[in-house]
Amino acid sequence: MSESAPAPEPAAEPGTTFVQVALNLPLRREFTYRLPPGVTARPGNRVRVNFHGRALGGVVTSVAAVCDLPAAKVKPIEAVLDGDLTLPDALLRLAEVMAQTYGCSLGEALDALLPAVAKRRGQRRIPHLEVQAPPDLARQAVHELEDKHQEQSRVLRTVLEYGGPMPVLDVRRRTGTSDSPWQTLVKHGLLKRVLIAEQLEELVPAIEERAVRHELNAHQQRAVDTVAHSIAARTHRTFLLHGVTGSGKTEVYLRILELVREQGRSGIVLVPEISLTPQTVGRFASRFPDVAVLHSGLTSAERGRQWQRLLQGKAKVAVGARSALFAPVQDLGLIVVDEEHESSFKQDSTPRYHAREMAIERGRLEQAVVVLGSATPTLESIGKARRSVYELLTLPERAGAGRLPKIVVQDLRSEPKELRRQGVVLSRTLLVMMQERLAAKDQVLLFLNRRGYSPVLLCPGCGDAVKCDACSVSMTWHARRGRLVCHWCSHEKRRPEICPTCQHAGMHELGVGTERLEQAVKDRFPDAIVARMDADTMAERGAHERVLAAFRKRHIDVLIGTQMIAKGLDFPDVTLVGVVSADTGLFVPDYRAAERTFQLLHQVAGRAGRGEKAGTVVIQTFCPDNYAVEAAARNDYDAFVQQELVFRKLAGYPPFARLLRVLAESRHEAEAQQLLQQAVTPLRGMAGVDVLGPAPAVIARVKEHWRWHMLVKCYQPASFAAAMAAIGTVEDLATRTCRITLDVDPGSLM
Ligand code: ADP
Ligand code: ZN
Repeated sequence: MSESAPAPEPAAEPGTTFVQVALNLPLRREFTYRLPPGVTARPGNRVRVNFHGRALGGVVTSVAAVCDLPAAKVKPIEAVLDGDLTLPDALLRLAEVMAQTYGCSLGEALDALLPAVAKRRGQRRIPHLEVQAPPDLARQAVHELEDKHQEQSRVLRTVLEYGGPMPVLDVRRRTGTSDSPWQTLVKHGLLKRVLIAEQLEELVPAIEERAVRHELNAHQQRAVDTVAHSIAARTHRTFLLHGVTGSGKTEVYLRILELVREQGRSGIVLVPEISLTPQTVGRFASRFPDVAVLHSGLTSAERGRQWQRLLQGKAKVAVGARSALFAPVQDLGLIVVDEEHESSFKQDSTPRYHAREMAIERGRLEQAVVVLGSATPTLESIGKARRSVYELLTLPERAGAGRLPKIVVQDLRSEPKELRRQGVVLSRTLLVMMQERLAAKDQVLLFLNRRGYSPVLLCPGCGDAVKCDACSVSMTWHARRGRLVCHWCSHEKRRPEICPTCQHAGMHELGVGTERLEQAVKDRFPDAIVARMDADTMAERGAHERVLAAFRKRHIDVLIGTQMIAKGLDFPDVTLVGVVSADTGLFVPDYRAAERTFQLLHQVAGRAGRGEKAGTVVIQTFCPDNYAVEAAARNDYDAFVQQELVFRKLAGYPPFARLLRVLAESRHEAEAQQLLQQAVTPLRGMAGVDVLGPAPAVIARVKEHWRWHMLVKCYQPASFAAAMAAIGTVEDLATRTCRITLDVDPGSLM
């Protein structure tokens, strides 16, 4: 776009069509382009355009025959992408709602809606990396590169652990590196770049069992009947299905979906994370012949194919994680949000939408019923149900043979002193019970929400912990790998022999992670087959499915895991669940610390006693009197909610306020601070608004960037809108050296 446009402005050629294009940039306006002769485009088409010399993808939002810009300034679009893939109108409108709600641009919202589908016809060949050197040599190189070329070392190790050709994009994503480390490794003959034809993946993960169609019990029947009214009326309504773990919520979803399918309409089922809920997905896939499973492991070609099937009405049910909400199904009748309390429904990058809230918006736009289900509904959702914004459905008992487990709270303060000093891993009570259950050939689940060997490496001389050089957090000791790892930036380093601060010899491993727990269990039960499931052991392809299959076949006696094992698992022979520490999340500086602890404890406990045999749960804690722990131990959701609501009201947190977080990150602390101090000015004294901060974030520094934030509490919808308007856009606030994040209903306050 040259500044020196010729003086006489030529009129647009007659018959020219102009399009408005929303670009995936943080700019809250659209841009005008024209269609070259012979090219047609509709709203909802993806196009490629030239924007200041850059080729960018965008979405056409409207088409017109006139344009108020001088024609010479209007550039033609370069191409219409994705052939006949057009975003349905309802989804275009949903993107508008999303942009408005979360303060992002329409282009950014649209980008989240559209999958990066195959842009070219035919099969693509995808670059992969595989280990070229002999494995021993490669492993040796991993160690040799560790100090001077850490990123190369990380890349090489990741590909080694993957155990086969790994897509370059996945390598980069998992290691947080650019292209240069792997390119250097290729140059040195350690890795090889290979092109592999993109596979059209099998649709549905192996369905192991056909889900029986149970006779509904009375509670289930009542729930289905209630929803059936809205389905018959074809109107939008939101239901909250509050059912204890194992109460047969999934069966209720299946029946409601049957009703919708009988009308010829379609449904969307959202689950927290597909790899963590294979059983749930399998049940939908086995009951409906026309399911499209949308998971993050799909290649772009496969995702494009699923989109086509849904658009053309060949698939009528979409099952998937957060983004499956945007599945382009025809004639939507139902959206199910299973485990609505799960934090993974909130996206933690722009657009920072919450799939539950957007599901309700989509339901409203398309006159579809929305069913939110959980054993532990969020305070926001239960609050709305109590105010009749949602209709509440309850399943108070376990369905079928299962009974809710007996819960034992083990007060770790009563363990022997020398045990407590080392950090109790397994209390005497838990050990005795494990012994019993393993002798009876039952299975045991041990839950600990902390990976690595120990979360802190501490100097007993001066009390200093080893911190990350780039972040203000202590590094976690990973014994098997023999490295200290920062869980915020993935930076690694060697374990110091002597304290870097005071030269004291011998660092102390403080606290317990899953690796240490695994070791302790193997030491105590040498004959038991023990497996561990966390981000470290699940790096290999298909590892997750393999471990779960082995557990189902009873080839594993004790399964240890992080939150990966907390949900969705239904194994009838698990009669003992041990929560190694109920306290890991209790003291996190977040107003939801208690709620999250309660939810997690309740969900984990729900894994026991799902078959004929009775189940027991042992909760180890130093805080047996904490109300969240106490309520979880009594399986008393209502008591927890009642207490928690009192605290939330006093402190002015959701559901009594809507939160808005503004985070500024810069290499220069003063810049981040000043920027927020300016941003906060128009909010001071605003009615119905309180501001906390600006203040340093809990994690004050990440990847060498200082972090300041402020939390805006808005007590009425009007004050929320006013605050959003006063803060302005990220585009207004951010500078070249200071990044701004605007987060509505933030998931994390760290
Ligand atoms: P939730 O999703 O509420 O945790 P599930 O749907 O997984 O519960 O159901 C728990 C178990 O009860 C499953 O094994 C399921 O097959 C079984 N089940 C569900 N409904 C019934 C019923 N009406 N009669 C007998 N068993 C049932
Ligand atoms: Zn770090």
